[in-house]
Amino acid sequence: MKFVQPKVFLIGETRVVKEGVEAYLEHLGAPGWSTDAPSDGEAVSEVMGRLCYRSFEPGLNPNVTRVRQGNAAYIENIIRVGHGSVLEHPVLNFIFADVSRVVTHELVRHRAGTAVSQESLRFVRLDALSAYVPTQIRENEQGMEIFVRTLEQLETLQRELATLYGIDEAGSFDTKKKLTSAFRRVAPIGLATTIGWSCNFRTLRHVIELRTDPHAEEEIRYLFGEVFRIVRERYPNVFADYEVETVDNLPWVKTSHGKV
Ligand SMILES: Cc1cc2nc3c(=O)[nH]c(=O)nc-3n(C[C@H](O)[C@H](O)[C@H](O)COP(=O)(O)OP(=O)(O)OC[C@H]3O[C@@H](n4cnc5c(N)ncnc54)[C@H](O)[C@@H]3O)c2cc1C
Repeated sequence: MKFVQPKVFLIGETRVVKEGVEAYLEHLGAPGWSTDAPSDGEAVSEVMGRLCYRSFEPGLNPNVTRVRQGNAAYIENIIRVGHGSVLEHPVLNFIFADVSRVVTHELVRHRAGTAVSQESLRFVRLDALSAYVPTQIRENEQGMEIFVRTLEQLETLQRELATLYGIDEAGSFDTKKKLTSAFRRVAPIGLATTIGWSCNFRTLRHVIELRTDPHAEEEIRYLFGEVFRIVRERYPNVFADYEVETVDNLPWVKTSHGKV
């Protein structure tokens, strides 16, 4: 049995196709336009936003005599006026490892703008358990003793069942799968597992706001604090309006432009 801390891996993100953007700008009549966006995702949001009013430069739309200069000012305005749909275009791909099934149950409640691939405990056999230990347990000697004893017992149970049913000797993968699936029913909800989670910028802003709030559960607060740390640095303009307050040693990530 092992104690673990959730881990965040950003494994993919939206990429600009430069020739495509140039061809579109040529088609529109604004071949000289360029962006100072710090990331491709922010560039894509800017292009999608500007195409709405042809606001790449004055004159493309006779109604537009002035345009906002620069990606930071452009995205700031998008967020301030709540034109959130342009933030749906770029997608980020995360892997969250060593997170409990408590966290994954909470995470999949966010449906809009997400994609999920979860480690299958029907296929992957639990021969060792690992878990995140919440503060209330960690700071109480007796609580910790009960926590550890229970997890050790449940881990032993997995091995006993595997031996009893001779799963290693089972010929077909189908039999192994059915047995593995049956055994997982006596595994704890706190066991650490892995989930792949993709989302767009708009969704991520909303989920960070909800899941770092002090009313949310400790483990998911920690997880989205880590997510925020990564995305704030990588996509500074999309997350520029956030302030961080520390509560319970965890970041509470807040903005006055909630759910754009
Ligand atoms: C602190 C905390 C405690 C919670 N406690 C509980 C609990 O006790 N029990 C429980 O069941 N859940 C609980 N939840 C989960 C919560 O109710 C939501 O299901 C979850 O936060 C997903 O957020 P969302 O509804 O904004 O959905 P998302 O999928 O993140 O959607 C984003 C937004 O899109 C819009 N949207 C999405 N889907 C629809 C739709 N079908 N129709 C109309 N508009 C839509 C809404 O405006 C929504 O806010 C809790 C969440 C938090 C943060």
